[in-house]
Amino acid sequence: MKEGIHPKYHEAKVSCGCGNTFVTGSVKPELKVDVCSKCHPFFTGQQRTVAAGGRIEKFNKRYGR
Ligand SMILES: [Zn+2]
Repeated sequence: MKEGIHPKYHEAKVSCGCGNTFVTGSVKPELKVDVCSKCHPFFTGQQRTVAAGGRIEKFNKRYGR
């Protein structure tokens, strides 16, 4: 590959709305997402509550449900 024609690709810290953080490859140093593999309905088995999903999860953790 030639130098200078590709953007810098490095590890990016991703912060999810549910509070989960993980590292992925990106051209940006930091990313924010609403849904990650920890809180996505597909993985949690919950109904689609994407916008509030993270908050509900936090709430449930805090109050021990
Ligand atoms: Zn998440």
